[in-house]
Amino acid sequence: MRILLVEDDAHVAEPLKAGLERHGHDVEHVTTGAEALLAGKADLVLLDLGLPDLDGLEVCRRLREFSDVPIIVLTARSEEIDRVIGLQGGADDYVVKPYGFRELLARIEAVTRRASRQRRDAEEEPPADRGKLVVDRRTRRALLDGVALELTRREFDLLAFLAEDGGALRTREEIMDRVWDENWFGSTRTLDVHVGSLRAKLGDPSWIETVRGVGFRLVEPGS
Ligand code: CA
Repeated sequence: MRILLVEDDAHVAEPLKAGLERHGHDVEHVTTGAEALLAGKADLVLLDLGLPDLDGLEVCRRLREFSDVPIIVLTARSEEIDRVIGLQGGADDYVVKPYGFRELLARIEAVTRRASRQRRDAEEEPPADRGKLVVDRRTRRALLDGVALELTRREFDLLAFLAEDGGALRTREEIMDRVWDENWFGSTRTLDVHVGSLRAKLGDPSWIETVRGVGFRLVEPGS
């Protein structure tokens, strides 16, 4: 796999690059946000948040404008996690420093496995039509009244999963398993953060019904 490592701290970057290369990955290492945005195509991005030029989240957001490459954020700031995984960032996952190399490898594997599963799902699935809302995994677009919603990768995946199967009730466990993955190390609070941001973007909170203690269901308002 070709990995873009964005990390300004040589004490962190050098052993990490060496370790990843030992595991057969091809690593391009850059030290600034500007270089990250100009780097070649990668299969995965490891992104430090504390960069000398641009805020790491800004880098993440800009990468998302032209790519849906999986991004794992490396952060020393655990209080930043909601921002990272949630609203602005569009990162797929995060690892809090100091982290173990094995943990990082497990995250890399999980994120790439999920990305390939999503590609496979997308090829097979016709768009889900929930009245005013149409979710198409093949184009990764969700249209509300014919207008494309601006969703982060994870918001899209969550919406697509809820829209499948006639808007069936999905338990929190099913959602964490399908939209995040079976090895998710973080809390399921991240699910509530994403449901909140999706409701806001759908413009009507009643699109996503909470079934207390169980999970969520997509319902067209007024239907
Ligand atoms: Ca740094």
